[in-house]
Amino acid sequence: MSTETFEFQVEARQLLQLMIHSVYSNKDVFLRELVSNASDALDKLRLAKLRDDTLDADVSDLHIELETDREARTLTVRDNGVGMSYDEVGELIGTIANSGTAQFLKELKEAQDAAGAEGLIGQFGVGFYSGFMVADEVTLVTRKAGEKQGTRWSSRGEGTYTLERVDDAPQGTSVVLHLKPADPDNQLHDYTSVWKLREIVKRYSDFITWPIRLVGEKDGEGDDGEAAEPETLNSMKALWARPRDEVSEDEYHELYKHIGHDWREPLETIQLHAEGTFEYQALLFVPSHAPHDLFRQNTRHGLQLYVKRVFIMDDCEALLPSYLRFVKGVVDAQDLSLNVSREILQQDRHIRMMQRRLTKKVLSSVKSMMTADAEKYATFWREFGAVLKEGLVTDPDNRDALLAVASFASTHEDGEAVTLKRYVERMPEGQDDIYYITGESRETVDNSPHMEAFRERGIEVLLLTDPVDEVWTDAVGEFEGKRLRSVAKGEIDLDAREDDRSEDEQKQQAEAYAGLLGWMRERLDDDVKEVRLSTRLTRSPACLVADADDLTPALENMYRAMGQEVPHSRRILELNPDHALVKGLNEAYAEREDRSELADTAELLYTLAVVAEGGRPKDPARFVRLTADRLERTL
Ligand code: ADP
Repeated sequence: MSTETFEFQVEARQLLQLMIHSVYSNKDVFLRELVSNASDALDKLRLAKLRDDTLDADVSDLHIELETDREARTLTVRDNGVGMSYDEVGELIGTIANSGTAQFLKELKEAQDAAGAEGLIGQFGVGFYSGFMVADEVTLVTRKAGEKQGTRWSSRGEGTYTLERVDDAPQGTSVVLHLKPADPDNQLHDYTSVWKLREIVKRYSDFITWPIRLVGEKDGEGDDGEAAEPETLNSMKALWARPRDEVSEDEYHELYKHIGHDWREPLETIQLHAEGTFEYQALLFVPSHAPHDLFRQNTRHGLQLYVKRVFIMDDCEALLPSYLRFVKGVVDAQDLSLNVSREILQQDRHIRMMQRRLTKKVLSSVKSMMTADAEKYATFWREFGAVLKEGLVTDPDNRDALLAVASFASTHEDGEAVTLKRYVERMPEGQDDIYYITGESRETVDNSPHMEAFRERGIEVLLLTDPVDEVWTDAVGEFEGKRLRSVAKGEIDLDAREDDRSEDEQKQQAEAYAGLLGWMRERLDDDVKEVRLSTRLTRSPACLVADADDLTPALENMYRAMGQEVPHSRRILELNPDHALVKGLNEAYAEREDRSELADTAELLYTLAVVAEGGRPKDPARFVRLTADRLERTL
């Protein structure tokens, strides 16, 4: 039959180059990756047969086999699982579809040195291709369940691979690694050594629920040429069903790496055994890093669902709310039908109960992390805080629990994030509200004119810079009876401050400005619904604020981005009567008949307020012209 040669996709080629010249010291993990793929293939076949028992496949003895040949220096990893079709081999093995891997390659290009590269490999993992760390040629023979003909794929990892149809392929997939020459100085890395394989399987793949058998040659025992009985290398114990004190942290971590497709350790391991009428076990993991696609829509997430130890589905979203989509793990239920579908799960009463219980369990684990290990909690919140806050909007039942574990950057933080509870505890006498500011970045909120008076008076303000902050602050409204108030909304009356001006003086000032304020309000009618004197400014001439129940500009943009129609809302322009520019404008207003020049200045003042909060001038060219014109006159 004809053999066709294909080129690897560019990314795949880069990745292979990296594996061939691998700088990664822990090469043993290639076996974990291949065993993990084999195990997935067995899960898939059992499930396919369960769904359709006419499928022409033998599921009576599903297993993984490792076979070594010292003479030929090969190691074969074989499974009798679901296999791949000719086209699938090209798609799955010849290209890289995984967005995480693309990200990995991007970061790798930026990492200049070998140590950086090694760190990255350790973080991302590269699945099947990791075989090229130890082999200079890899051959894969596979036959998809239900199909007659198989496929042979072969490559030396150097830019091309070949595909060929074969007639005599057994069910499933076998991967033959033609191992690199043995290093006489480093016997530890001889992957034809049986004890080496035993050790790797025990360390990385013991929990795999399918038998991993060693067949053929055995050290010492097999020297006389007789094939020994296959030996099962793994215990196959489902970790989630075992009491926690019988399982080592390392074992949990290896399970996490298998199901989470992550090469790093998890941040937290959470176990739950629910007894009673609806029994189930759960083993959940919080990763130590947020995935790159956490905020992309329609990404796959969710737990693995087992029923009585039988794998049923990946990415089961129904088991946790969307704001916990970063949690990985396994749920094994006793009394669900093996034929359960995603649609049924969404409506199932038991699944909803499980979701509630698992959610509470995850939140209470975060709570304990907060008290037991501040550093771990800080990592957790840095990676996942922005996702968790979505729950403040979408899950009112757990709002209190979420608020209890949330923390925020603050003007008073001393480097540490503050909880709402702590904020309220240290609120000075006379302050009734919890103040916050929202904005795009730490820099914009730090320098916002809205902060001036608060800063001057030493009032603590929470600095909120995630997009979701705009939404949850509105939805939540208050904490322990204290209102959550944006420093950019409504009238701010900081009574707690000592005002050095008497009431009379203030009244006089208001009268003196009445004409200018009214005139400006008319001039700026398109964008502004009111112009008033400010109590929040000390250094800036002007700022924009919203009414307490108006949408903020960021929120308006968010709704528009989601395709909703939002009327353009006009805001309030506040002027700083102590600023020389504002004073001067007021005097000029009183003196001059012809106000066309002043109208431009009024417009500039408004645009400056827009720019100060990170917005864009409506007509940037005009803004530049007016500004340049005025600057010229200062020369
Ligand atoms: P990952 O396992 O992270 O998806 P891999 O490069 O290891 O990435 O594998 C790519 C895909 O190839 C797998 O998702 C799977 O669909 C397929 N595959 C790999 N090994 C096997 C196997 N032994 N049997 C069936 N399919 C496999």
